Amino acid sequence: MIRIVCPHCGVPFLRVTPAEDGEEVVCPNCKRPFHPEEEEWVDPEDD
Ligand SMILES: [Zn+2]
Repeated sequence: MIRIVCPHCGVPFLRVTPAEDGEEVVCPNCKRPFHPEEEEWVDPEDD
């Protein structure tokens, strides 16, 4: 899983797979699309 921080509202959320080049992700909090610049891999078992 990866953790992405929304540049609009600053809320971090998790994605199962990283966004592909040019792919937009939609923030589940503010519903605004953006291109993630930093994707932090996280271990789902390591809370
Ligand atoms: Zn947001």
